[in-house]
Amino acid sequence: MLDILIKNGTVIDGMGKPANKADIAIQDGKITAIESVIKAKSLQTIDASDRIVSPGFIDIQNHSDSYWTILDQPSQFSLLSQGITTIVMGNCGASLAPLLSKESIKSIQKWHNLSGVNVDWMTMAEFLQYLGNVPHGVNVGTLVGHSTIRRGILGDSTRPVSDDEIKIMKNILTNALDQGAFGMSMGLVYAHEVNSSEQELRTLATVLNPKQKYLSVHLRSEDSHILESLDEVIDLALIASVPIKISHLKVRGKKNWPLFERLMTKLEIAYHQGINISFDVYPYDTSWSVLYTYLPKWTYEGGRDQILKMIGDPVTRRKIWDYLKAQEYDFDKVIVSEASSAPNFVGKSLKQIGDNQSVSAEEATLNVLLAGGAQVMVFDHNLSNEHVELLCASPLSMIATDGAGHSTEHPHLIHPRCFGTMPRFLRMIRENKLLKWEQAIMKITSEPAKLLGLPNLGQLAKDKLADVVIFDPKTITDKADYKNASLVSVGIDGVIVNGKLSYTNQEVVGLNGMVIKR
Ligand SMILES: [Zn+2]
Repeated sequence: MLDILIKNGTVIDGMGKPANKADIAIQDGKITAIESVIKAKSLQTIDASDRIVSPGFIDIQNHSDSYWTILDQPSQFSLLSQGITTIVMGNCGASLAPLLSKESIKSIQKWHNLSGVNVDWMTMAEFLQYLGNVPHGVNVGTLVGHSTIRRGILGDSTRPVSDDEIKIMKNILTNALDQGAFGMSMGLVYAHEVNSSEQELRTLATVLNPKQKYLSVHLRSEDSHILESLDEVIDLALIASVPIKISHLKVRGKKNWPLFERLMTKLEIAYHQGINISFDVYPYDTSWSVLYTYLPKWTYEGGRDQILKMIGDPVTRRKIWDYLKAQEYDFDKVIVSEASSAPNFVGKSLKQIGDNQSVSAEEATLNVLLAGGAQVMVFDHNLSNEHVELLCASPLSMIATDGAGHSTEHPHLIHPRCFGTMPRFLRMIRENKLLKWEQAIMKITSEPAKLLGLPNLGQLAKDKLADVVIFDPKTITDKADYKNASLVSVGIDGVIVNGKLSYTNQEVVGLNGMVIKR
C-alpha cells in the first residue's frame, strides 16, 4: 500500500527534462515509482490533472534564524505556503551556531531584538540537535556565519583579528562544518566584518575546499562600489578554490544602475574561467535592509554604540549628513519597516518623516537611527525591474526569498518576499516567458540541491526524497504586497514534505520537515 499516489500530473523533474504526463508513487518518505499509469492502492490519492508536479522548492538564501522565527514559528507558514520544502539559514555572516559565548548570538541583533531570547546550545551539533527536537514545516539546514565566529572571539569589538585568532577561527569553522553545516557565509558590509583582513577571509575560505562546501557572500557594496566588491569575491573564490554564491544580487540606487551591464559581464567571464560562481535573487524591485548600512563605512566600524555616539556628536553628525547628501539617496522611496524602540516611524518614508519634523530627509535619517537605537530596517524601492528580470533569467541565478518564515500575524512590517517569492517568480515565467517551465524549476530545485551537495533533494525520480509541490501553472501567483505582506499566494494546491502531505487548501496540515546536514 502506497502512502500517496499523485495521478495525471504534468511532471517536471527539476533536472531539466521535458515535462511529461505521469503518476507518482510515494512510500516511506521516498518516491517509489514515476510511470505513465500507476494502479497500486494508496492511502491517499491526489488528482493533479492540469497541474504541474515538481520537486519541493529549496530556499537557498533564508533568514528564518536571524529573525528568530525558526524557533518561535516552527510551521514556517509563509514558506510552506509558497511551495518551499527546504531552507538554508545562516546567511549574510550570521548564524545561530557555533557560539563561543552566549554573546556571539549578537550577530543577529541587526534583524531581531534579542531581549528575552533563550539560547540552549553552543556548538553546531548542539544547535542542530536542538532544532531537531521540534517538528518544523520545512527541512532546515544552515551555514556557519563569519560574523558569529568573529563575535565569539571579539565580543563587541570590530577590530582586525590577530594571526593566532585566525587560527582559532579556522578551528571553530572546521568543527562546525564537520558537524553538518553546508558551508560558510560572509556579510562583508556589516559592522563586525568590515574590518576583516584579506588574509582572514582567505584563510577561512580555504577551509571549505577539501570539504567541498560553499561560500555564500553578501557583497561589501551593492551600489557605487559593486564592481570592486564583485572582484573581491571572485579573487577569494579563485585563491581558495571554492564554490561561491553571491547573496541577493542587485544594483541599488538608480544612479548606479549603469553598472549592471559590467557586473553581468564580470560574472560571465568568471564563470567561463572555470570559477564555480552563482548568485541568488529575489524577484522584487524593493530591497529590505538595515538602515545603518546607508551611512559611511567609518561610522559603523565600531558597532551600534559607536554609530549612536557619532550621530550624537554635532561635528561628526555634520560629516555623516554631508555623506548622505552626496549619495543622492531617493529618501521618498525609503520606508521604515521596523524600528522597535520608535514604532511611530514605521510605514513612513524618510522624506515624509523629515517633512513632519520640518527637517531634511538626511536629518530625519539620523533622527530615526538615534530613536531606533540603530536597529532600524527599511524598504527601499531602489531596484530596476528590468534588472530583476535579467537576473532571474541568468543561467547563473537561483531564486530565493532572502526572507523568513512567518505566520499571517507579525508584529512588524515584513517584505512581501517572505510570502510570495516562488509564486511570483513562476507567474513571471508564465506572463513574461523569461524561461521555459523546466528551466525555471531547476533554479529552485536541483540547482540549489547541487550547491548543497544533496543529490537526493531537488529532483523527482525513483528513490529520491519525496518533497513535492503540486501547482496550477495557469493561476499560480503571489498576493502579498508592501501593505499586506501576509496575503497567501494562490495556485499552490499541495506541498508534500518527506512523503507526507503538509500543506493544502491554504492550510498547514502537518509538520514533517527534518534537520538536514552535510
Ligand atoms: Zn544579506
